[in-house]
Amino acid sequence: MVDVRGVHKAFGTLRVLRGVDLRVRAGEVVVILGPSGSGKSTLLRSINHLERLDRGFVRIDGELVGYRRSGGRLRELTEREVLRQRVHIGFVFQDFHLFPHLTVRENLVEAPVSARRVPRRVAEARAAALLARVGLADKADAYPRRLSGGQQQRVAIARALALEPKVLLFDEPTSALDPELVGEVLDVIRDLARAGTTMLIVTHEIGFAREVADRVVFMDGGLIVEEGPPEQVLDAPRHARTRAFLSKAL
Ligand code: ADP
Ligand code: MG
Repeated sequence: MVDVRGVHKAFGTLRVLRGVDLRVRAGEVVVILGPSGSGKSTLLRSINHLERLDRGFVRIDGELVGYRRSGGRLRELTEREVLRQRVHIGFVFQDFHLFPHLTVRENLVEAPVSARRVPRRVAEARAAALLARVGLADKADAYPRRLSGGQQQRVAIARALALEPKVLLFDEPTSALDPELVGEVLDVIRDLARAGTTMLIVTHEIGFAREVADRVVFMDGGLIVEEGPPEQVLDAPRHARTRAFLSKAL
């Protein structure tokens, strides 16, 4: 479902991604761990074409992200085309990014109606079902600022799901939350994992990674240093840098 190949990205002279290869199968949950500054967010943003790659490419379900082949040459997609493509890639940010001037329901209905031309009634019915799924059926008419951080993040997840994405990307979805609110967000992600949602999750929650990940990827210095099943990477890491990171994180 996700195919990242030979991806390089620099900001000026800072080489942030130095040749990343990563594949995520349909229904697979991959957790990315790594120290701050190792390039995790840049990798997620690259998958969504929020960053322009210097080298390499990303495919989602076989479709090249950000580019199109025309007459044997690669042509960058227009902003409009990129937006259309992004509909298939759900992104959940650390700090929620809800539309503050829209109610919870409207946050879920806006994109399907405007970007996918789903009839409003259909989008509203789907929004109600998604809010029930994340335990917020009673908050449809509330504005985001009235909600706790955990509730806002659950709305953000429901909003991402409203576009029926092929893959969901999470960038530290619980890092901005008070400790007592982390669990309710992880519960929602855990349910999605059980339901077979394809997900790529950057998190520092090692226990959660162990529980939900089909595969754990450890990044450092813009490279994937090590990857494998959670019990291998977390309990018997092969690389000294993975061991050093885990000894600090636990
Ligand atoms: P992580 O998510 O693993 O903490 P990031 O991908 O956010 O790492 O950042 C990797 C490095 O790239 C950091 O040194 C960061 O400061 C730098 N960086 C990220 N985005 C930009 C940008 N837009 N301009 C310049 N430097 C950036
Ligand atoms: Mg980050």
